[in-house]
Amino acid sequence: MKNDLECALNDSNYTEHGRIFVISAPSGAGKTTLVGFLKKQFPFLAESVSCTTRDPRGNEVDGVDYFFLSKDEFFAKREAGGFAEWAEVHGNFYGTPLDFLRRQLDSGRDIICDIDYQGAINIKKAFTKEAVLILVLPPSMEELESRLRKRATDDPEVIKRRLHNAKNEIMHYPYFDFVVVNNDLNTALKQLEAIISAHTDSSIFHNLETIKKLTE
Ligand code: 5GP
Repeated sequence: MKNDLECALNDSNYTEHGRIFVISAPSGAGKTTLVGFLKKQFPFLAESVSCTTRDPRGNEVDGVDYFFLSKDEFFAKREAGGFAEWAEVHGNFYGTPLDFLRRQLDSGRDIICDIDYQGAINIKKAFTKEAVLILVLPPSMEELESRLRKRATDDPEVIKRRLHNAKNEIMHYPYFDFVVVNNDLNTALKQLEAIISAHTDSSIFHNLETIKKLTE
């Protein structure tokens, strides 16, 4: 029979594994910049490199930015159960390799994943205690549109589609643990840092030794 304290620990988000910080955002919300800062700020975070069927852009490197696979290769990996989650995003397939995630988690490392909202929801289903879902939002639709136009990488039709997709993505907010509005970059970064610290430095797991000594 478990005592009340053991049950409470079981019900809490206590885990001896690492955490999976999943960052999702509509295109143009500033996620790539923020994740770049976080990786510098928290060098202990292992970065999950996804597989994708889309073509490499600019100076993207295979195995660094993505593992670029053909559709056949992607589907074969999917059939073999090689993905922790997969989704079709903007007409291409993306998947998070499962073996990498498992290895990092088992060795107690924390992971950062930049994936879409569908992937985020599925990661939470598969790794309920480990996953921390963070949704990064623009301050307004007007601002999102202006940022997408300034990027000047997409034609007006693509921008229109991305804005339409953004609404659908944002409507999935109840699945997320945290929402960070990226109005001012430094403020958004501070909020993200606080979320990560709360689940690492200030977690029960990280402080268990101290707790044990204090209650001996
Ligand atoms: P991009 O092609 O612009 O790099 O990424 C397009 C979208 O796919 C982004 O929202 C990105 O977060 C998402 N994405 C990247 N990797 C994965 C993945 O492994 N799984 C899922 N579900 N989405 C991903």
